[in-house]
Amino acid sequence: MQQAQQEMLDWQGTGMSVMEMSHRGPEYTSIADKAEADLRELMAIPDDYAVLFLQGGASSQFSMIPMNLLRGKTKADYFYTGAWSKKAIAEAKRYCDVNIVADSSDNKFTKIADKPTWQFSPDAAYVHYTPNETIHGLEFDDIPDTGDIPLVADMSSTILSRPVDVSRFAMIYAGAQKNIGPAGLCIVIIRRDLLGDTVPNTPAMYDYKVHADNGSMFNTPATYSWYLAGLVFDWLLKQGGLAAIAKVNQRKAEKLYAAIDNSDFYNNPVDKRYRSWMNVPFTLADDALDTQFITEATQANLLTLKGHRDLGGMRASIYNAMPEQGVDALIAFMAQFENNYGK
Ligand SMILES: *Cc1c(COP(=O)(O)O)cnc(C)c1O
Repeated sequence: MQQAQQEMLDWQGTGMSVMEMSHRGPEYTSIADKAEADLRELMAIPDDYAVLFLQGGASSQFSMIPMNLLRGKTKADYFYTGAWSKKAIAEAKRYCDVNIVADSSDNKFTKIADKPTWQFSPDAAYVHYTPNETIHGLEFDDIPDTGDIPLVADMSSTILSRPVDVSRFAMIYAGAQKNIGPAGLCIVIIRRDLLGDTVPNTPAMYDYKVHADNGSMFNTPATYSWYLAGLVFDWLLKQGGLAAIAKVNQRKAEKLYAAIDNSDFYNNPVDKRYRSWMNVPFTLADDALDTQFITEATQANLLTLKGHRDLGGMRASIYNAMPEQGVDALIAFMAQFENNYGK
């Protein structure tokens, strides 16, 4: 943000703000190309994958995935593990039969069903899952093995948190606003051989091949969000890449869960094996104190801790941009609050 502020009115001596550039001019092209190259380096994305910088958020992909990946088939497999996979399933049902591979609703989204119970369908066009369920703080501890069936992952709240083997996936997508940059941009990483076989009447804007063939400039992209995402990729590379940020993220999550588990005053219901590194929901033993907790946390400059409206309680989202000192400050505040209000 400081770099963006400093070059906001005059990008590298051009006398133009990035916002004022033509998206097809040489200045902006260099910004866009560098962002893509840096993301490819960060995630070690193989050349046979297209990287798209789209709009419409992850929610648009919920429809674009069946439109582009059914490829003549009539069935798709979905894991149902939380609020976001629920939305993805609802959209897919407009286009095909949806088979639920595993269902976490019966354990209130606190664990992933054991692998031997997973029910894949042999004729599925693809398998979709949500590696990190942002609202419930529920995370897969492994990449599902789907053999030759293309695997699609909604990585909105976990992309860039650690290294990932892109070659295991047919497609990865992520809204930018959690771990990449400002809202308005959605990253799609898709194997090129899957492009070009859409359902009838697919609009051009919903066809991944159209975007791939046009370098994500079929229409005007979200230029400023793309530029800011590029600054974040550059920053991550300077931190030492995803292996380095993964160490910090793991430490942050482990110490926060330890603080919760070591107290009867706080609780996180998720099975330890499936706890999210990024989103840590927690409740107070006495939920009558929730408002007091949020009020005092806000006074201590610990912000946006109110839980999602579906779950209540609290949620600490500790994405890449949250420094470790921020987590330390939250843990110290939680201990003090328990001291003041616990028995
Ligand atoms: C936030 C989020 C979304 C929604 O993204 P939009 O860009 O708002 O459409 C989808 N999936 C997951 C896992 C998310 O965390």
